[in-house]
Amino acid sequence: MPTLVMKFGGTSVATLDRIRRAAKRVGREVANGYDVIVIVSAMAGKTNELVGWVEETSKFFDAREYDAVVSSGEQVTAGLMALTLQEMDVPARSWAGWQVPLKTDAAHAAARIEEIGTDNINAKFAEGMRVAVVAGFQGISPEGRITTLGRGGSDTTAVAFAAAFGAERCDIYTDVDGVYTTDPRITAKARKLDRIAFEEMLELASLGAKVLQTRSVELAMRYKVKLRVLSSFEDNDDSAGTLVCDEEDIMESNVVAGVAYSRDEAKMTLLSVADRPGIAAAIFGPLADAGVNVDMIVQNISEDGRTDMTFSLPVAQIPRAEQAMAATKERGEVNYADLVTDDDVAKISVVGIGMRSHAGVAAQMFKALRDEGINIKVITTSEIKISVLIDRKYMELAVQTLHDAFELEKA
Ligand code: ASP
Ligand code: MG
Repeated sequence: MPTLVMKFGGTSVATLDRIRRAAKRVGREVANGYDVIVIVSAMAGKTNELVGWVEETSKFFDAREYDAVVSSGEQVTAGLMALTLQEMDVPARSWAGWQVPLKTDAAHAAARIEEIGTDNINAKFAEGMRVAVVAGFQGISPEGRITTLGRGGSDTTAVAFAAAFGAERCDIYTDVDGVYTTDPRITAKARKLDRIAFEEMLELASLGAKVLQTRSVELAMRYKVKLRVLSSFEDNDDSAGTLVCDEEDIMESNVVAGVAYSRDEAKMTLLSVADRPGIAAAIFGPLADAGVNVDMIVQNISEDGRTDMTFSLPVAQIPRAEQAMAATKERGEVNYADLVTDDDVAKISVVGIGMRSHAGVAAQMFKALRDEGINIKVITTSEIKISVLIDRKYMELAVQTLHDAFELEKA
């Protein structure tokens, strides 16, 4: 029988009633002839609560015990979903990650999937089980300990199962009805996309669109898993939601697919560092070691053998970055004149595969921002993305302005 993966996020399993509604959808797909693998998140808010308990108990917690605690939310919903399906006379059982097994590396709290064993579940399908309900977000390390995949990791569980079992599709049920051109809370003109290319989704997800965990999109792209995002709160048919797919499967698309933003950004500049081989390594090596997620990097042309180095980072990581930079100066490795931190910026990005073949997108973006008097502080580009840092107070305005400028409300 063909296999389908259906993933239900926290809001879609937030109460017993919601679980029943989700189970009905599963039952419908079983009636359509599919063997279904259901991946569940913890009930909405549960994982936050569990993380809070861990942090309250232990400041520098053992990540292995963190995983033991925070993985428990998914185990509850997996069991409840299986029970609900059984009540509907659908042959179902639950699986914890280790029972499958879903094998990961040992990077607790941010583990990567290494392998999914398909034999156990397939044997049960062969015996007549129609639904395998799998706890998302969790796996087992080489040492036999429970691991978790990082926040939002159930999406990645779902895509990995779809790849491993050759599922026809991976449907991600959530509380929004798809992927939007931008955040509808910022502009009412935001439009739901029928289709979006993997690469665009990857950029949007890593730029802060929270609908899918970035790694799930990476996996889907690598294994060509047809990924669909849709609402579990609405009645919908086969064409509902947004399909994340290969760009060849998109007939017509706008040059720009969407506008993403990230509110809590900061910018740091090292003034007057020596312009010599190894200087970037001497700066960004220690930042990486300190766990600072540097995004944009700009180095100015040098004058008299000195240059300025600017980079962006999440606001929360400023103390770590400042500490790491002070240490490099103390060791005499990077002799900068001054370190200037701006903790009041936001990053706005326009994303679209159409940019590859379309000139002038950057100019259009900069003009639109100019017309609103918004100053651009840093610019970076990639093949399918242009990002700028601006003062945070203009963030909403910038998103609205760019959404209008690229006419994203029109298909
Ligand atoms: N429950 C986990 C979290 O909130 C995993 C997930 O729902 O994707 O991060
Ligand atoms: Mg999620």
